[in-house]
Amino acid sequence: MAKQKTPVKKNEKISLTFEDLTHEGNGVAKVDGYPIFVPYALPGEEAEVKVIKINKNFGYGKLLDIKKASPERVTPPCNVFYKCGGCQLQHMSYDMQLEMKRNQVQNVMKKVAHLDHVPVHPVLGMEDPWRYRNKIQIPVGEKDEELITGFYQHRSHRIIDDMDTCVIQNELGDRMVEAVRRIATDLGIEAYNEETHRGMLRHIIVRTAFGTNDTMIILVTRTEKLLQQDELIKQLTVTYPSIKSIILNINKEKTNVIMGKKSRTIFGEGYIYDSIGDLKFKISPRSFYQVNPIQTKVLYNKVLEFANVGANDVVIDAYCGIGTISLFLAQQAKQVYGVEIVPEAINDAKINAKLNGITNTEFMVGEAEKVMPWWTAQGLRPDVIVVDPPRKGCEEILLKEMINMAPKRIVYVSCNPSTLARDLRILEDSGFKTQEVQPVDMFCQTSHVEAIALIQRKIM
Ligand code: SAH
Repeated sequence: MAKQKTPVKKNEKISLTFEDLTHEGNGVAKVDGYPIFVPYALPGEEAEVKVIKINKNFGYGKLLDIKKASPERVTPPCNVFYKCGGCQLQHMSYDMQLEMKRNQVQNVMKKVAHLDHVPVHPVLGMEDPWRYRNKIQIPVGEKDEELITGFYQHRSHRIIDDMDTCVIQNELGDRMVEAVRRIATDLGIEAYNEETHRGMLRHIIVRTAFGTNDTMIILVTRTEKLLQQDELIKQLTVTYPSIKSIILNINKEKTNVIMGKKSRTIFGEGYIYDSIGDLKFKISPRSFYQVNPIQTKVLYNKVLEFANVGANDVVIDAYCGIGTISLFLAQQAKQVYGVEIVPEAINDAKINAKLNGITNTEFMVGEAEKVMPWWTAQGLRPDVIVVDPPRKGCEEILLKEMINMAPKRIVYVSCNPSTLARDLRILEDSGFKTQEVQPVDMFCQTSHVEAIALIQRKIM
């Protein structure tokens, strides 16, 4: 087949003027209508670019030299930003990040949901959009007989060996990684080697609770036993009394999945507590918990406002995790039903209800798309439904069941605007109307976008 002609060639050096951004945060410039995507280029900028990849309808380039910089360009505070790929937007002012995220939601609302007139509010951002994460998962490697910890270089499995801090991670988590690495090196613990599938320590995971300072450390090992386990525990916990639990997670597989199926608590109770507002939550290693606790409050407040639950309302919280949203809703509702697929999380949710003296909740383990029809069969008729699915959005049968349940309102919390828009279209075609969408910046410096939609049932 004859090669399609493109206006630029691979390896060619060209001058481009950027006009737009992709949702990953790449700059977009066009040559005779042919788009070229260039990481770290900003709209309004002029730059020298090397073309590195050519596809039929678009190409990729590498930024060589910026001739005219955007006033929104800032110096990334992280010294490995361009290598890491964990953050995509540190080169962009925070105002621009928020604007970009709002545009992204607006775009999918128009192009995917065909809901041009639904207001998408300005993104609720952070005052200080750094050091916000409460969870770090970091690979362990070796260099010059010392353990090293660092994220993988962009699109590779090479550990960045000069990463001394992660600027979106809270300091305590950062220090914990450093402490484990140092003590484990001293004790002669070896890092896991992906190529040979030998060695011991694969990943260090640290979860810190902002409300209580409780810290959980999960050590992912290839082996059943950790060398010098007792000594490691002693040195860590003596120095850092905030460590409430240390868990050994065994992952013997040759896999990219971080955690294995088997866990053993080697210090403490095996869980930590955190508080959000006036509620306290128990969190187990396998349970989902929002990673930006400051913005979690902002997010949940908006969910509560949109849900607008009254004392006679029956509410469903689907994809409820450890029951965080459920328990806030329960303070206003008659009864709240939560469903979640991870058994440990539902176990936490039940304990969390007790912990907070809340008696009007019921939690079930299962797939939301299966449990909701079952609830209908049991005669449950919710007034309000809150859904907070993973990136792939709601299953179609779940959307159908919500339509069938005919609540007054649905509050849809989403970490993926594309699937949110897809699902809103389906609801719109079936007697519901999207009223407004509120994006919340949960993942500052990255291109991830969180948004909440308020959907009302049309009166027919
Ligand atoms: N609302 C919670 C959790 C949101 S994350 C919070 O704010 O903390 C999404 C949750 O959905 C995760 O806990 C995940 O385990 C769960 N999940 C994923 N697929 C599911 C399914 N098919 N049915 C029910 N829960 C599911």
